[in-house]
Amino acid sequence: MNIIWIAPPAAGKGTYSSLLKEKYGFNHISAGDVLREQVSLQTEIGKKVEEIINKGEMVNDTLMAKLIETKLKSLDLSVPFMLDGYPRKINQAHDYEHILEKFNLNVDKVIFINISKETGLKRILGRLNCPKCKKSYNKYLPDTMPKTEGICDDCNTPLISRVDDTEEAYATRYNVYMTETKPVIEYYKSLGKLIEIDGSKSPEETLKVIENILGVNNG
Ligand code: AMP
Repeated sequence: MNIIWIAPPAAGKGTYSSLLKEKYGFNHISAGDVLREQVSLQTEIGKKVEEIINKGEMVNDTLMAKLIETKLKSLDLSVPFMLDGYPRKINQAHDYEHILEKFNLNVDKVIFINISKETGLKRILGRLNCPKCKKSYNKYLPDTMPKTEGICDDCNTPLISRVDDTEEAYATRYNVYMTETKPVIEYYKSLGKLIEIDGSKSPEETLKVIENILGVNNG
């Protein structure tokens, strides 16, 4: 089984990927993390990617396809995997079909987590991430606050904010989502693969909905 998450920024793609990874051992590929890995290596590509990400703009399609294909090659594809943040444009949706063909796979399920622009902004401004285990928190929301301010509950690592989690970069990212990603949602709807869920509920409630959709539940 393979799943694509589609959602506006901060709808919870990363959160639900981490939860399903933890509970069921699914593999998780985050397009943003794949790019941030390149940035941390400070290669020529990494430096260009860094500038683009910091502005909230999109990295070019050819590079994205190459990075996603390389990542897929490194995984055991008999284990269910979740792709988060790719494809984000209609051309990338077509590129992804070509990539999956090479592995004899098709897109199985596309889960669209819907939230309003205002909810996304609130989440962005309070978001904190663990650079080590990738768990995410929100300093303003009691359900997802770290137990000790600024420290990861699970691995004691100091939490960080993403450089692109600013009001300005969010405005650009949301705009990119409306113009580029909305057509991808329509495309998967027309293929009968899209399942829309309400992302404004608590993580526990939304996780239950997702588990039902995927037909997994370990109690
Ligand atoms: P994310 O972690 O998914 O919010 O992505 C962070 C940033 O990485 C985005 O704002 C874009 O600058 C870049 N990015 C992530 N996924 C893609 C993609 N599929 N195509 C182009 N750029 C991307």
